[in-house]
Amino acid sequence: MSLFELIRSRIPAQDKTFLEMADGRRIGYRELLARSGRIANALVLRGVEPGDRVAVQVEKSPENLLLYLATLRAGAVYLPLNTAYTLAELDYFIGDARPALVVGDPGKRDGLAEIAARHGVGAVDTLDSQGQGSLTDAAAGAPADFADVPRADDDLAAILYTSGTTGRSKGAMLTQRNLGSNALTLVDYWRFTGADVLLHALPIYHTHGLFVATNTLLLAGGSMIFLPRFDADEVMRFIPKATAMMGVPTFYTRLLQHPGLTREACAHMRLFVSGSAPLLAETHREFRERTGHAILERYGMTETNMNTSNPYDGDRRAGTVGFPLPGVEVRVADAETGAALGPDEIGVLEVKGPNVFSGYWRMPEKTRAEFRPDGFFITGDVGKIDRDGYVHIVGRAKDLIITGGFNVYPKEVESEIDALPGVVESAVIGCPHPDFGEGVTAVVVCAKGAAMTESAVLDVLAARLARFKLPKRVLFVDDLPRNTMGKVQKNVLREAHKDLYANAAKAG
Ligand code: AMP
Repeated sequence: MSLFELIRSRIPAQDKTFLEMADGRRIGYRELLARSGRIANALVLRGVEPGDRVAVQVEKSPENLLLYLATLRAGAVYLPLNTAYTLAELDYFIGDARPALVVGDPGKRDGLAEIAARHGVGAVDTLDSQGQGSLTDAAAGAPADFADVPRADDDLAAILYTSGTTGRSKGAMLTQRNLGSNALTLVDYWRFTGADVLLHALPIYHTHGLFVATNTLLLAGGSMIFLPRFDADEVMRFIPKATAMMGVPTFYTRLLQHPGLTREACAHMRLFVSGSAPLLAETHREFRERTGHAILERYGMTETNMNTSNPYDGDRRAGTVGFPLPGVEVRVADAETGAALGPDEIGVLEVKGPNVFSGYWRMPEKTRAEFRPDGFFITGDVGKIDRDGYVHIVGRAKDLIITGGFNVYPKEVESEIDALPGVVESAVIGCPHPDFGEGVTAVVVCAKGAAMTESAVLDVLAARLARFKLPKRVLFVDDLPRNTMGKVQKNVLREAHKDLYANAAKAG
C-alpha cells in the first residue's frame, strides 16, 4: 500500500482540524484533500511523472506540507532540502538528484533557474514563507479532484540527503513501506489517537519534523499546532492547547530557561519526545522536576527512520534511547569483524527491519559497504545494549558533530577552510556547548607569515556553507596533534578545548 493510501484510509470520517497556525488560520482534513489535489494536478501539468523527484527548498508553511502530500499523491519522490543550503550546495543536490521540478524560495529564483537549466531540470517553481508563489498560483487554477497514483511497497516515496563523511552528501532512498510501517509503529507505541494535538515546531526538511512528527500525526488522524520555527515564548503560548510535542534536545534546554514552564502549563500534555541528538540526563531530570513529565527519548536516523524508543509505560531511562521498536532488530557488533557482541559490550549499532532504507541514490557501492551480508545496516553509531535491554549511544564512529539537532560532518567544513589561501590544514571538532549540545569549532594551522583572522575565515565560510555548519570559534595553532600513524588526534583537541563554551550564554 502506498503511504498516501494509508494516510487517506485514516482520515477522520467527520471533518476536523488538521493544522492550526499561530495566527489562528486552520486547515481541515477535507481542505487537505482538496488543496493537495490541486497541487498534485499542478505537478502533473509541470511534467512530473511517477518516480520523478520533486526537489523542494522552501520555508516551513502549510503549503509546503501540502506540497509533500501532493508529491506522494502524484506518485513522485519528495526531496526536501535544508533551507540553510546555499546555491553552491544546491548545485550538487540538483545535479545528483536530477529532479523533474525544483521548488524554491522566490529570493533564489534566478540562481535556481540557472542551476536547473544547467542540469536539464524541466521546471522551477516558487513558494514563499507565506505559501505564495508560482506553484500556488498554478494550483489555484487546477481542479481539486485528483486520482492518486498507485504505488507498490518498494517504490520510493522520498529521498533525504544526509551529510557525507567524505564531503559528498548521500541521498537516502526511502520507500513507501519504510515510511508507512514506521509511522504505524509510532502511532501504537506512543499511543497517538485522533484526540491528539501535536505542537509542531521542527523544520520539515528533516526526517524528524516531516516523517516522525507529521506522518505519525496523520496516521492517528489528529491535529497539529504548526509553528514556523521553535520559539520558546510561542511554544509556551500554545502548550496549554497541545497534548504532545516532539523536539530536539535544544528545545528542552531552552524551555527550561523559560519562567512559564511549570506543571500547570503542561497539565494538558501527555507526551514529550526527544531525539536527533543525545539528551543530557541532567536535562531529563530538570524537566521532570519542573513539569512532572519524563521526556521520552528515542533514536533514529535519516536512513532508518526510528529504531528504538523508551517505553510509553514503564521506566524512561535518562541517558538511554530505550528498546528496539516492534519489528526492528538492533544488535551491537564489532566494528572491524562484524561479530555480534554481548550485553554491555560497546560496538557499532546495526539495525534491520521494514524501517531501513533501500540504499543511497546512485551509490550502489556505498550502499553495499554499509550493509552486512545478512541485511543489517551499519549505523555508524557506537553504543551498547545493557542487561535490561536498553540501548545506549556512547559516541559516533565518524566524528559527526550534532549542533542544535543538526548534523555537521567535520570533513566538509575542513575542506572549505583548507581551500583558503594561507591555510595549511584544519581540524573541525564538536566542543560541548550549553545551548547547542555541541559547538562547531575549527582548529586551523596557517602558513608562516600568513595574516589570517577568525572573522576573515568566518566571512568566507558564510557564503559557502549553511549557517548551522559555521564554526562558532576558529582557533589558530602551530601544529595539529598527530598519532604515530600520522592521523590527527581529534580526541586530544576535544579534550584541550572542552571548556571553550562553558561560559557561553544559553539563548533565552
Ligand atoms: P539524522 O540522520 O540527521 O537523523 O541523524 C542521525 C544521527 O543522529 C544518528 O545516527 C545518531 O548519531 C544521532 N541521534 C539520533 N537520535 C539520537 C539520540 N536520541 N541520542 C543520541 N544520538 C542520536
